[in-house]
Amino acid sequence: MQLDELYRRVIMDHYKKPRNRGALEEGTVSVFLHNPTCGDRISLQLRIDDGVVTDARFTGDGCSISMSSASMMTEAVKGRTTAEALDLAERFSLMMRGQPVEFEEYEDLEALSGVSKFPARIKCATLAWNALRKGIEQGRGEHKGLEH
Ligand code: ZN
Repeated sequence: MQLDELYRRVIMDHYKKPRNRGALEEGTVSVFLHNPTCGDRISLQLRIDDGVVTDARFTGDGCSISMSSASMMTEAVKGRTTAEALDLAERFSLMMRGQPVEFEEYEDLEALSGVSKFPARIKCATLAWNALRKGIEQGRGEHKGLEH
C-alpha cells in the first residue's frame, strides 16, 4: 500500500469515527472557531487540571480534513501538559509548512502531512490546533488570580 493511500485511510477513519466527539460536562475552557474559507466550525472543550489537559472534546461540522484533524488533535493532547500540547501544535504548524515532522506520541497526525501541498486546505487542518492554543491561553488567564 502506498503511503498516500495509508494516510487517506487514517484520515477517513477519524472522519467517520471521530474520537472525543461531544461536549464535556465539566470543561474548564470552551473555544469556538470558524474557518470561513471552507465553512468548517469547531467547538472545543478542554479540561485542564494543574497544567495537564486531562480531557478534550469537540463538536462541529466541516470537511474531512478539519474534522479528522480535530479528532486526532484531541487524542494527541489528552493526558499531556499544556507545554507538551503547545509543542505538538507548533510541530503541526511546521508540518503544514512542508517540513518533515515525526509524531512519536501520536503517529496518526502524520497522515495530514500531505495537506501542506494544498494551501487552501491548511486552514482546515489547523483549525482544531488554533482552538487548542486559544483554549490553553484562556485556561491560563482564568487561573492567573490563583498564582503567586
Ligand atoms: Zn475544510
